[in-house]
Amino acid sequence: MKTSIPPFFDGQQLPSLQEVLENVRICSIPMNVKFRGVQVRETALFHGPAGWGEFAPFLEYSVEESAAWLASAVESAWLGFPEAVRTEIPLNSTVPAVEAAQVPDILGRYKGEIREVKVKVAETGQSLQDDVARLRAVAQHLPAARLKVDANGGWSEDQAVTALSAMEEFDLLYAEQPVESVQGLARVRERLHEKKIFVPIAADESVRKAEDPLEVARLGAADVIIIKAAPLGGVRRALAVVERSGLPAVVSSALESSVGIRTGAALAASLPELPFGCGLGTVTLMTQDTVEHSLVAENGVLKVRPVVPDEKLLQILAVSAEKNEWWRQRITDCYRYLVDSQN
Ligand SMILES: [Mg+2]
Repeated sequence: MKTSIPPFFDGQQLPSLQEVLENVRICSIPMNVKFRGVQVRETALFHGPAGWGEFAPFLEYSVEESAAWLASAVESAWLGFPEAVRTEIPLNSTVPAVEAAQVPDILGRYKGEIREVKVKVAETGQSLQDDVARLRAVAQHLPAARLKVDANGGWSEDQAVTALSAMEEFDLLYAEQPVESVQGLARVRERLHEKKIFVPIAADESVRKAEDPLEVARLGAADVIIIKAAPLGGVRRALAVVERSGLPAVVSSALESSVGIRTGAALAASLPELPFGCGLGTVTLMTQDTVEHSLVAENGVLKVRPVVPDEKLLQILAVSAEKNEWWRQRITDCYRYLVDSQN
């Protein structure tokens, strides 16, 4: 390996494939809203000596990509989490690319205090005026909250420079993935600096594999990285990647049930610095959870605690025999990939 990223499962011997397969439950969870084109989220939960872990790579992901997710789930269930430095994780609220008039209604759905709001921008079919109006509505509704935007790579470089210049008045915490490519992020950041506009740039979609944050840092493409435990191969590996990147990190979920959110919370709890609100509030996008009491925020804060799936819910959410077989084969393939990568 070219980079000095630690091995999967902390270099320790994995539990046997048989042990892994004997302790898995496959679930299918209907979503409240379509997300990434997904209406039903399929996920595998493992129960090991250290607790529970969630394995939920999207169905189209390759074995190579999914193997990191398996390493993360096995770490959660068999190794447990590294030492935490905090027990409460600040989360942001999210305003989708709605009309400005709908903003109070969206924000009204959050319980308690809101300190940080992520506003989606650069939606296809909308204009910069729509985005600015939405931001203004949030700022008026919550004058004390800090704002950030997420373009999901939807702007061209010119559009990003124009838009982020126009948004200077909102003193954004950062702008997430204004354009698609890592090189594009670097150029947008440089052009903004030339204009003396210092809105921090965050890389999200550009960070998928463990090598990516190091590339982002090397190119000076971003000031902040958005990270997820599962695609980076677990909490320990993600911590090492953040340390090596030298950039502040924001922890986000990969659209998992509360078991996976617990792993994200463990990562956020162990980071030496956590300067921004995290994106671990996605359980509310699902119609059901795998645990009885979901791991959700109150007053913008998620309290870290153990989560244990509910047997009745696991039965309700169980997949067909055919689906079950497909997942067991997928787990087997990913497991073999992990073993090979360790040798
Ligand atoms: Mg994002």
